[in-house]
Amino acid sequence: MYLGVDWGGTKIEVVALSDEGKQIAKIRKCTPKGDYDACIELVAELVEYLEARVGVQDRIGVGIPGSINPSTNRIQNANSIWLNNRDLMSDLSGRLTKQVRLANDANCLAVSEAHDGAASGASVVFAAILGTGCGGGVSLGGVAHEGKFRIAGEWGHNQLPWLSETEITKPRCYCGKNGCIETFVSGVGFQRQYTRLTGQSLSAEDVIEKHRAGDRKAGIVYRNYVSQLSRALSSVINVLDPDCIVLGGGMSNIEELYLDLPSEVRKWVLSDNYDTPILQAKHGDSSGVRGAAWLWRH
Ligand SMILES: [Zn+2]
Repeated sequence: MYLGVDWGGTKIEVVALSDEGKQIAKIRKCTPKGDYDACIELVAELVEYLEARVGVQDRIGVGIPGSINPSTNRIQNANSIWLNNRDLMSDLSGRLTKQVRLANDANCLAVSEAHDGAASGASVVFAAILGTGCGGGVSLGGVAHEGKFRIAGEWGHNQLPWLSETEITKPRCYCGKNGCIETFVSGVGFQRQYTRLTGQSLSAEDVIEKHRAGDRKAGIVYRNYVSQLSRALSSVINVLDPDCIVLGGGMSNIEELYLDLPSEVRKWVLSDNYDTPILQAKHGDSSGVRGAAWLWRH
Protein backbone atom coordinates (compact mmCIF):
# COMPACT_ATOMS: atom_id res chain seq x y z
CA MET A 1 0.00 0.00 0.00
CA TYR A 2 1.23 3.48 -0.87
CA LEU A 3 -0.08 6.82 0.38
CA GLY A 4 0.44 9.97 -1.65
CA VAL A 5 -0.42 13.66 -1.20
CA ASP A 6 -0.66 16.24 -3.96
CA TRP A 7 -0.21 19.62 -2.28
CA GLY A 8 -1.38 21.92 -5.06
CA GLY A 9 -2.03 25.63 -5.32
CA THR A 10 -5.79 25.10 -5.62
CA LYS A 11 -6.43 21.63 -4.16
CA ILE A 12 -4.91 19.13 -1.77
CA GLU A 13 -5.53 15.50 -2.64
CA VAL A 14 -4.62 12.30 -0.80
CA VAL A 15 -4.70 8.85 -2.39
CA ALA A 16 -4.08 5.26 -1.30
CA LEU A 17 -2.75 2.93 -4.01
CA SER A 18 -2.39 -0.84 -3.91
CA ASP A 19 1.04 -2.29 -4.71
CA GLU A 20 -0.27 -2.81 -8.28
CA GLY A 21 -1.33 0.84 -8.62
CA LYS A 22 -5.06 0.37 -8.11
CA GLN A 23 -6.66 3.37 -6.45
CA ILE A 24 -8.18 2.18 -3.19
CA ALA A 25 -9.31 5.48 -1.73
CA LYS A 26 -9.03 9.17 -2.53
CA ILE A 27 -10.10 12.48 -1.05
CA ARG A 28 -9.55 16.06 -2.17
CA LYS A 29 -10.30 19.50 -0.73
CA CYS A 30 -9.55 23.11 -1.65
CA THR A 31 -6.17 24.44 -0.51
CA PRO A 32 -6.44 27.04 2.27
CA LYS A 33 -4.35 29.44 0.20
CA GLY A 34 -1.80 31.50 2.06
CA ASP A 35 -2.35 29.68 5.36
CA TYR A 36 0.55 27.27 5.88
CA ASP A 37 -0.60 25.93 9.25
CA ALA A 38 -4.13 25.33 7.97
CA CYS A 39 -2.64 23.36 5.03
CA ILE A 40 -0.64 21.13 7.37
CA GLU A 41 -3.78 20.50 9.43
CA LEU A 42 -5.84 19.76 6.31
CA VAL A 43 -3.26 17.23 5.06
CA ALA A 44 -3.31 15.54 8.48
CA GLU A 45 -7.12 15.49 8.50
CA LEU A 46 -7.30 13.99 4.98
CA VAL A 47 -4.65 11.37 5.76
CA GLU A 48 -6.52 10.35 8.92
CA TYR A 49 -9.74 10.13 6.91
CA LEU A 50 -8.08 7.77 4.42
CA GLU A 51 -6.32 5.71 7.05
CA ALA A 52 -9.67 5.09 8.76
CA ARG A 53 -10.54 3.18 5.55
CA VAL A 54 -7.26 1.56 4.50
CA GLY A 55 -5.34 1.22 7.77
CA VAL A 56 -2.54 3.28 9.30
CA GLN A 57 0.62 3.62 7.16
CA ASP A 58 4.06 4.59 8.42
CA ARG A 59 5.25 6.53 5.37
CA ILE A 60 3.89 8.90 2.78
CA GLY A 61 5.00 10.68 -0.40
CA VAL A 62 4.11 14.33 -0.99
CA GLY A 63 4.20 16.29 -4.25
CA ILE A 64 4.70 20.05 -3.85
CA PRO A 65 4.69 23.01 -6.25
CA GLY A 66 8.36 23.71 -5.56
CA SER A 67 11.42 21.77 -4.43
CA ILE A 68 13.65 21.27 -1.38
CA ASN A 69 16.75 23.43 -1.21
CA PRO A 70 19.51 20.87 -0.57
CA SER A 71 21.47 23.34 1.59
CA THR A 72 18.67 24.42 3.92
CA ASN A 73 16.13 21.58 3.55
CA ARG A 74 13.51 24.29 3.11
CA ILE A 75 11.08 24.83 0.23
CA GLN A 76 12.32 26.86 -2.73
CA ASN A 77 10.87 28.03 -6.04
CA ALA A 78 7.21 27.47 -5.10
CA ASN A 79 4.77 29.59 -7.09
CA SER A 80 2.57 29.40 -3.98
CA ILE A 81 5.19 31.78 -2.60
CA TRP A 82 3.94 31.51 1.02
CA LEU A 83 5.41 27.96 1.01
CA ASN A 84 8.94 29.16 0.34
CA ASN A 85 11.51 28.86 3.14
CA ARG A 86 9.23 26.56 5.15
CA ASP A 87 10.66 23.38 6.67
CA LEU A 88 7.81 21.31 5.30
CA MET A 89 9.58 17.98 5.74
CA SER A 90 9.94 18.44 9.53
CA ASP A 91 6.57 20.09 9.96
CA LEU A 92 4.69 17.36 8.09
CA SER A 93 6.56 14.36 9.47
CA GLY A 94 6.11 15.81 12.98
CA ARG A 95 2.38 16.35 12.55
CA LEU A 96 1.72 13.06 10.73
CA THR A 97 4.22 10.99 12.78
CA LYS A 98 5.31 9.30 9.54
CA GLN A 99 8.34 9.19 7.32
CA VAL A 100 7.80 11.76 4.56
CA ARG A 101 9.35 12.03 1.11
CA LEU A 102 8.83 15.27 -0.79
CA ALA A 103 9.21 15.89 -4.51
CA ASN A 104 8.34 18.53 -7.06
CA ASP A 105 4.82 17.98 -8.42
CA ALA A 106 5.96 17.95 -12.06
CA ASN A 107 8.52 15.27 -11.22
CA CYS A 108 5.69 13.29 -9.62
CA LEU A 109 3.70 13.68 -12.84
CA ALA A 110 6.66 12.50 -14.93
CA VAL A 111 7.26 9.46 -12.72
CA SER A 112 3.57 8.55 -12.58
CA GLU A 113 3.11 8.74 -16.35
CA ALA A 114 6.37 6.89 -17.04
CA HIS A 115 5.34 4.16 -14.60
CA ASP A 116 1.85 3.26 -15.81
CA GLY A 117 0.52 6.25 -17.73
CA ALA A 118 0.72 7.84 -21.16
CA ALA A 119 4.52 7.40 -21.29
CA SER A 120 4.51 3.86 -19.93
CA GLY A 121 7.77 2.15 -20.86
CA ALA A 122 9.47 5.33 -22.14
CA SER A 123 12.98 5.74 -20.79
CA VAL A 124 13.31 9.55 -20.91
CA VAL A 125 10.14 11.51 -20.20
CA PHE A 126 9.61 15.25 -19.93
CA ALA A 127 6.36 16.21 -18.20
CA ALA A 128 4.93 19.71 -18.02
CA ILE A 129 2.18 20.91 -15.73
CA LEU A 130 0.28 23.72 -17.41
CA GLY A 131 -1.96 24.91 -14.62
CA THR A 132 -2.06 27.96 -12.38
CA GLY A 133 1.69 28.06 -12.93
CA CYS A 134 3.95 25.99 -15.15
CA GLY A 135 6.25 23.24 -13.93
CA GLY A 136 8.50 20.75 -15.65
CA GLY A 137 9.74 17.34 -14.55
CA VAL A 138 12.12 14.74 -15.92
CA SER A 139 11.87 10.99 -15.41
CA LEU A 140 14.90 8.87 -16.34
CA GLY A 141 14.22 5.14 -16.29
CA GLY A 142 11.15 5.75 -14.09
CA VAL A 143 13.05 7.82 -11.49
CA ALA A 144 12.81 11.60 -11.15
CA HIS A 145 15.97 13.46 -12.14
CA GLU A 146 16.18 16.31 -9.60
CA GLY A 147 19.66 17.72 -10.19
CA LYS A 148 22.38 19.03 -7.89
CA PHE A 149 20.35 22.07 -6.76
CA ARG A 150 16.96 20.38 -7.23
CA ILE A 151 16.10 22.70 -10.09
CA ALA A 152 16.02 20.20 -12.97
CA GLY A 153 12.85 20.80 -14.94
CA GLU A 154 12.49 24.46 -13.89
CA TRP A 155 11.91 25.15 -17.53
CA GLY A 156 9.04 27.55 -16.80
CA HIS A 157 11.53 30.16 -15.63
CA ASN A 158 13.64 30.25 -18.74
CA GLN A 159 12.66 33.06 -21.05
CA LEU A 160 10.23 32.18 -23.83
CA PRO A 161 12.45 31.60 -26.88
CA TRP A 162 12.14 33.34 -30.27
CA LEU A 163 9.96 36.19 -28.97
CA SER A 164 7.55 37.72 -31.48
CA GLU A 165 6.91 41.46 -31.82
CA THR A 166 3.88 41.30 -29.51
CA GLU A 167 5.78 39.30 -26.89
CA ILE A 168 8.68 41.74 -26.62
CA THR A 169 6.98 43.52 -23.69
CA LYS A 170 7.87 40.40 -21.63
CA PRO A 171 5.44 40.20 -18.70
CA ARG A 172 6.84 40.25 -15.18
CA CYS A 173 7.10 36.86 -13.44
CA TYR A 174 6.78 36.26 -9.68
CA CYS A 175 10.34 34.87 -9.75
CA GLY A 176 11.67 38.38 -10.41
CA LYS A 177 12.53 37.95 -14.09
CA ASN A 178 10.64 39.08 -17.19
CA GLY A 179 9.23 37.00 -20.03
CA CYS A 180 9.42 33.59 -18.34
CA ILE A 181 7.79 30.69 -20.20
CA GLU A 182 5.36 30.40 -17.26
CA THR A 183 3.95 33.87 -17.92
CA PHE A 184 2.84 32.69 -21.38
CA VAL A 185 1.96 28.97 -21.21
CA SER A 186 0.33 28.65 -17.77
CA GLY A 187 -3.45 28.88 -17.58
CA VAL A 188 -3.06 32.31 -16.01
CA GLY A 189 -0.72 33.36 -18.83
CA PHE A 190 -3.27 32.23 -21.41
CA GLN A 191 -6.05 34.22 -19.71
CA ARG A 192 -3.80 37.28 -19.43
CA GLN A 193 -3.13 37.23 -23.16
CA TYR A 194 -6.85 37.13 -23.92
CA THR A 195 -7.46 40.05 -21.55
CA ARG A 196 -4.63 42.00 -23.15
CA LEU A 197 -6.18 41.60 -26.61
CA THR A 198 -9.84 42.15 -25.71
CA GLY A 199 -9.96 43.98 -22.37
CA GLN A 200 -12.21 41.16 -21.14
CA SER A 201 -11.41 38.80 -18.30
CA LEU A 202 -12.53 35.22 -18.98
CA SER A 203 -11.54 31.79 -17.70
CA ALA A 204 -9.27 29.72 -19.95
CA GLU A 205 -12.17 27.29 -20.54
CA ASP A 206 -14.43 30.12 -21.69
CA VAL A 207 -11.78 31.47 -24.07
CA ILE A 208 -11.40 28.00 -25.60
CA GLU A 209 -15.19 27.68 -25.96
CA LYS A 210 -15.27 31.03 -27.79
CA HIS A 211 -12.46 29.84 -30.06
CA ARG A 212 -14.41 26.66 -30.85
CA ALA A 213 -17.46 28.78 -31.67
CA GLY A 214 -15.38 30.72 -34.21
CA ASP A 215 -14.54 33.86 -32.22
CA ARG A 216 -11.70 35.60 -34.08
CA LYS A 217 -9.83 37.07 -31.11
CA ALA A 218 -10.08 33.88 -29.07
CA GLY A 219 -8.64 32.11 -32.13
CA ILE A 220 -5.68 34.50 -32.25
CA VAL A 221 -4.95 33.91 -28.56
CA TYR A 222 -5.20 30.13 -29.00
CA ARG A 223 -2.87 30.09 -32.03
CA ASN A 224 -0.37 32.30 -30.21
CA TYR A 225 -0.54 29.89 -27.29
CA VAL A 226 0.21 26.89 -29.54
CA SER A 227 3.19 28.76 -30.97
CA GLN A 228 4.48 29.75 -27.52
CA LEU A 229 4.10 26.27 -26.07
CA SER A 230 5.78 24.79 -29.16
CA ARG A 231 8.77 27.11 -28.87
CA ALA A 232 9.03 26.38 -25.15
CA LEU A 233 8.85 22.59 -25.65
CA SER A 234 11.33 22.62 -28.53
CA SER A 235 13.91 24.26 -26.24
CA VAL A 236 13.57 21.19 -23.98
CA ILE A 237 13.69 18.76 -26.91
CA ASN A 238 16.87 20.35 -28.27
CA VAL A 239 18.58 19.69 -24.89
CA LEU A 240 17.02 16.49 -23.54
CA ASP A 241 15.65 14.77 -26.69
CA PRO A 242 13.08 12.84 -24.62
CA ASP A 243 11.26 9.70 -25.81
CA CYS A 244 7.94 11.19 -24.82
CA ILE A 245 6.43 14.47 -23.61
CA VAL A 246 3.41 14.40 -21.29
CA LEU A 247 1.20 17.38 -20.51
CA GLY A 248 -0.78 17.74 -17.29
CA GLY A 249 -2.64 20.56 -15.54
CA GLY A 250 -5.80 22.35 -16.62
CA MET A 251 -4.51 23.52 -20.01
CA SER A 252 -3.63 19.92 -20.96
CA ASN A 253 -7.38 19.23 -21.27
CA ILE A 254 -7.54 21.26 -24.51
CA GLU A 255 -7.86 18.39 -27.01
CA GLU A 256 -6.89 20.49 -30.02
CA LEU A 257 -3.37 20.92 -28.63
CA TYR A 258 -2.44 17.31 -29.46
CA LEU A 259 -3.36 17.89 -33.12
CA ASP A 260 -1.82 21.35 -33.42
CA LEU A 261 1.41 21.08 -31.42
CA PRO A 262 3.44 18.47 -33.39
CA SER A 263 3.73 20.41 -36.67
CA GLU A 264 4.41 23.65 -34.79
CA VAL A 265 7.10 22.07 -32.57
CA ARG A 266 8.76 20.58 -35.65
CA LYS A 267 9.54 24.10 -36.90
CA TRP A 268 11.91 24.70 -33.96
CA VAL A 269 13.51 21.31 -33.35
CA LEU A 270 16.91 20.68 -34.90
CA SER A 271 16.01 17.39 -36.52
CA ASP A 272 14.57 16.47 -39.93
CA ASN A 273 12.72 13.42 -38.67
CA TYR A 274 11.45 14.61 -35.30
CA ASP A 275 8.29 12.74 -34.22
CA THR A 276 8.37 12.72 -30.39
CA PRO A 277 4.87 11.97 -29.07
CA ILE A 278 3.19 14.77 -27.09
CA LEU A 279 0.48 13.14 -24.98
CA GLN A 280 -2.09 14.10 -22.39
CA ALA A 281 -1.47 12.65 -18.92
CA LYS A 282 -3.36 9.36 -18.74
CA HIS A 283 -4.21 9.75 -15.08
CA GLY A 284 -5.42 13.31 -15.59
CA ASP A 285 -5.18 15.58 -12.60
CA SER A 286 -4.67 12.54 -10.35
CA SER A 287 -1.32 11.81 -11.95
CA GLY A 288 0.61 14.03 -9.55
CA VAL A 289 -0.82 12.34 -6.48
CA ARG A 290 -0.06 8.88 -7.92
CA GLY A 291 3.55 9.90 -8.57
CA ALA A 292 3.77 11.18 -5.00
CA ALA A 293 2.59 7.80 -3.71
CA TRP A 294 5.23 6.09 -5.88
CA LEU A 295 8.02 8.09 -4.18
CA TRP A 296 8.51 5.16 -1.81
CA ARG A 297 8.84 2.53 -4.55
CA HIS A 298 12.60 3.14 -4.95
ZN1 LIG B 1 9.84 33.27 -13.69
